[in-house]
Amino acid sequence: MDCIFCKIARKELPAEIVYEDDGVIGFRDLNPQAPTHVLVIPKTHVDSLAAANDAKMLGRLLLAAAEVARRENLESGGYRVILNNGQGAGQSVFHLHAHVLGGRGFAWPPG
Ligand code: 5GP
Ligand code: ZN
Repeated sequence: MDCIFCKIARKELPAEIVYEDDGVIGFRDLNPQAPTHVLVIPKTHVDSLAAANDAKMLGRLLLAAAEVARRENLESGGYRVILNNGQGAGQSVFHLHAHVLGGRGFAWPPG
């Protein structure tokens, strides 16, 4: 399948990987929106949160996001985990991914 995140998961495209287990991989965003910006993805392709139905996978994805934040020393300052679902919400890559953002303050509500 011609999916850039599948290619990153298969190591066919380069990425700065900061986390990996047998189901999930975390790598730095190419266009970071905060001092720390990591994308956490399932290794198996799923288009989006709306298309996901594997509770174990979703749980592992979120736990991996928390582990990335821990490793990147984001816990004390706080961090944000974002899943953009659908084009209208800003999703541009249709392989499920959680953004882990930290190292600066965040406004609420989000833009
Ligand atoms: P979305 O807009 O779908 O929520 O997030 C997609 C993210 O993927 C964007 O933040 C974008 O910068 C990032 N991105 C797109 N292509 C690549 C790539 O080839 N490598 C990496 N590391 N990040 C990418
Ligand atoms: Zn994919």
